[in-house]
Amino acid sequence: MSGQFRIGQSPLCHQVRRGDHINVIFKLTGATCNLDCCYCFEKRRDYPSHRTIGEELVSSTLSQLAAYELSIELHGGEPLLVGLPHFTRLLDLIISSRPDVSIRLQTNGTLISEGWCNLFLRHPQLSVGVSLDGFQAGNHLRYDNRERDSTGAVLAGMSQLERHGIDYGLIRVCSKDNVGQVGDYLDLAAVRKNVKVVRLLPCFDDGTALSSNVPRTARTRQAFAVGQDLPWSISFEDFASEVMAAYDHWRGRGYFERFLLDPAIDYLKMGLSGTCASCHFEARKCFHTIAVYPDGTFSLCDELDDGARWPLTSSDGAGNIPNIIEGWTEIDAPLTESLLRECEGCDVRALCNGGCIAIRRRAARVGRSEAYCQMQRTLFDHFSVMA
Ligand code: SF4
Ligand code: SF4
Repeated sequence: MSGQFRIGQSPLCHQVRRGDHINVIFKLTGATCNLDCCYCFEKRRDYPSHRTIGEELVSSTLSQLAAYELSIELHGGEPLLVGLPHFTRLLDLIISSRPDVSIRLQTNGTLISEGWCNLFLRHPQLSVGVSLDGFQAGNHLRYDNRERDSTGAVLAGMSQLERHGIDYGLIRVCSKDNVGQVGDYLDLAAVRKNVKVVRLLPCFDDGTALSSNVPRTARTRQAFAVGQDLPWSISFEDFASEVMAAYDHWRGRGYFERFLLDPAIDYLKMGLSGTCASCHFEARKCFHTIAVYPDGTFSLCDELDDGARWPLTSSDGAGNIPNIIEGWTEIDAPLTESLLRECEGCDVRALCNGGCIAIRRRAARVGRSEAYCQMQRTLFDHFSVMA
């Protein structure tokens, strides 16, 4: 194989076929956010301007994807910054076009008010995910644009949800700032009766850099000044330990009766049945997730931090999404080709299925591909014993 590798040729990463399920992420506010979490990958993107996604973009996306099954995610930046009236219009548009679609909102939680809760209550197909890395310690990387800690404001937002009886999920970024604290985190999550899922995400940021045109706080700029090995970036080994420790704690304390725990459950499901819903472990991955931006462009999965972006519609008004996701499209070819070649002959390939392309590309850039694969082997070994 030579020249431009096209990832859709790989058995580990399929292109889309008519009728497939596509996950659409609307970046409602682009990178605009009231917080400046130093690891924010949206703010590392090249953003020519900070706009709010318009109804016409949502409408165009939905009509271009009429032939596919959909799920929707509402992200930013901070999506609630679009304001309640505009958010309501976008939600109505989505639901009138796709009445049964599941919609997930990912918010930093600081702006949740009674008005937002009333909106959430009117739309049971909307599920809410709140980002919080630690209840007391461990949340230091999530500060606002004046460099003030955000923890109190997030906890207040969670209390609003709880007062209204709204179930929600917690998204915890695992970093060097909070490594070793996952048991405490789960203990505090377990006393919040409306938490129904805790999702652990690895913060593998080594080798990433700031965008030149997105404003950042002095604290963030200083944090990036140290070079390739960023002080908050967790190692693959440490993340594997966090996931195993979290699972043991969750099981040992009986928290499985209160909330789900990702990605431990994904590894367990793969060990038990060889299948799960995570794109990391199946071939319907990067082409089956698209992100739509306020400037009228879209990309494949937003985790691909240097991924190409295309206009939603071409100059003659025709939609571009089906052509890209079904066509032979390249994603930073040689690197991805070599990554997927590494999977040939791997002893956990049937479970891992190539893992997350975005994380592997970041790891490869700093020479840590093998560490990623070792993490996968460790976790599959651990959870196959559990299964
Ligand atoms: S880049 Fe990773 S998270 Fe995104 S679709 Fe591909 S495998 Fe999934
Ligand atoms: S562990 Fe590594 S080599 Fe093996 S399938 Fe996963 S990504 Fe590929």
